[in-house]
Amino acid sequence: MTPVRGAEAAAHASGEPPRFVIDENAARLVRWLRLLGYDALYLPGVGDAALVELAREQGRILLTRDRGIMARRPVARGEARALLLDSDDTWRQLEQVASLLREAPRPAPFTRCAACNGLLEPRPVEAARPHVPPFIAATHRSFMQCAQCARYYWRGSHWQRVTARLAGLNLGAAHRPPAEPFRGEPSA
Ligand SMILES: [Zn+2]
Repeated sequence: MTPVRGAEAAAHASGEPPRFVIDENAARLVRWLRLLGYDALYLPGVGDAALVELAREQGRILLTRDRGIMARRPVARGEARALLLDSDDTWRQLEQVASLLREAPRPAPFTRCAACNGLLEPRPVEAARPHVPPFIAATHRSFMQCAQCARYYWRGSHWQRVTARLAGLNLGAAHRPPAEPFRGEPSA
């Protein structure tokens, strides 16, 4: 079995963090990769051939549970990069991807919208106030907003749970500091 076709090379070649496109059969991986800061496209309903073409065209790594994808010509030839995920378990999948990324440049975590893949931008509490629950506005000073879907994010209990979970991934020592709004701010 050759689970990785070109994916390792992609992870090391450029100075940029690798970007992904995720097959429908690995949908639960999308949110976690975005939380880690990776550009992770998810296009439900798009066929295998189009996903492979997108991976080739945009230099993305296609993550899939589908062996058939690995046999497609552009993947077999190394023109499109794909990783065959060994497990149906989301956490095992994330660990497999993480092992591939250990030497690759990493994005800052919590810089991308988990819902739509848009980039997050810092917002002061005044801007966030009309859009978040009053308790949250009263207890948090810095917020992030998705530039694409306008969803607000803040450092609450969910953020802490996610951070603890992601810390369990061995992503190697090269770790860029977290984005500005999450620096030195105690959570509610
Ligand atoms: Zn968004």
